[in-house]
Amino acid sequence: MTEKEFADLCQARGYRLAGSGKAVGTERGWPVTLIYGKKTLTLCLPAEKGERKLRARGLKRGLRERLGRNASTIWGNGFVAVYLKLKGVSDPYNQEIRPALEAFRDAGFTVPDSCKICGRSGCDSIIPSGPAFHPAHRTCVEKDVRAVKEKAEKNDREGSFLLGLLGAVLGMAVGVVPSALTIILASRIYVILFMLIPICTYYGYRLFHGKMNRAALVLSVLLSAVGVYLLNYVLLVYNLGSRYDLSFGQTLSLLPAAVRDPSVFTAITRDEDFFECVIFAVLGIFLAWGQISRTNKHLVRDAQTSLDNLFPYGDTQAEQSGETEETPETPEESDTPEESDTPEAED
Ligand SMILES: [Zn+2]
Repeated sequence: MTEKEFADLCQARGYRLAGSGKAVGTERGWPVTLIYGKKTLTLCLPAEKGERKLRARGLKRGLRERLGRNASTIWGNGFVAVYLKLKGVSDPYNQEIRPALEAFRDAGFTVPDSCKICGRSGCDSIIPSGPAFHPAHRTCVEKDVRAVKEKAEKNDREGSFLLGLLGAVLGMAVGVVPSALTIILASRIYVILFMLIPICTYYGYRLFHGKMNRAALVLSVLLSAVGVYLLNYVLLVYNLGSRYDLSFGQTLSLLPAAVRDPSVFTAITRDEDFFECVIFAVLGIFLAWGQISRTNKHLVRDAQTSLDNLFPYGDTQAEQSGETEETPETPEESDTPEESDTPEAED
């Protein structure tokens, strides 16, 4: 199946596209997420905590009876996913999706109606959480968005640059540790760990209630540079310590002296390893940019986007359209199985 065919299928069944290769619709009252793959289709439903124990066996049996080896299940935190192989399948909906949903029904899955945010029933929307969509109240999502906005406004008024700076310095020091350890212990240098330096700096600033404006980004970049020096001081002192066989305490006591001595500073900046570190730090900043450039404005905008992309619960017409011989069901909990092509022997 091509991605275009997937989009056509979703449109025909009343699914809404939710990002690339992903669509969401309501089937038998369930919020169903379809995830596109070239040779597979993944069907994802929300699942409550205890559901796996109760339903896993019945679902597996139902899927095997209807789809043989073409379907396999994966249970995750808050969801259950069914992988459907599309080899030799000309009509993915009627040959695979519908039978899979029947297996869900026969396994005793009920229509979920507890809000992901407040836990109460009477949901009118669905929100993404992990790979599946979950029911929620629009008012709950709005409340969440309001909370983000209020927090941002409070931070605009009361955020402190100085406290944030303190947090950022501490965060930077923490972020240097993994790189120092891997270089010392494994003689390896990883961009992914250098990425931690700006990210830890940013979150240190945020955690200490620094004002979330451009200062967060500027500090994260500047302190990453300081972090590279710090890292190199640590490495230099460590190398001295191991060369002259000093104890850990003696090695540590060298650090303040090294930091005070300007000749050490110039020696470090001329070192080849230092340039390697600088390049890695620049790459780390580049990779972390999306995270460390998030100001109050971005945080509020992201929250607003989640509200704008809220899908109504139960308004898609997946069951009404086209080829199926079934009568449309009301998404009430009286989910009576009216016709099942393979009636199961209950044990
Ligand atoms: Zn709610």
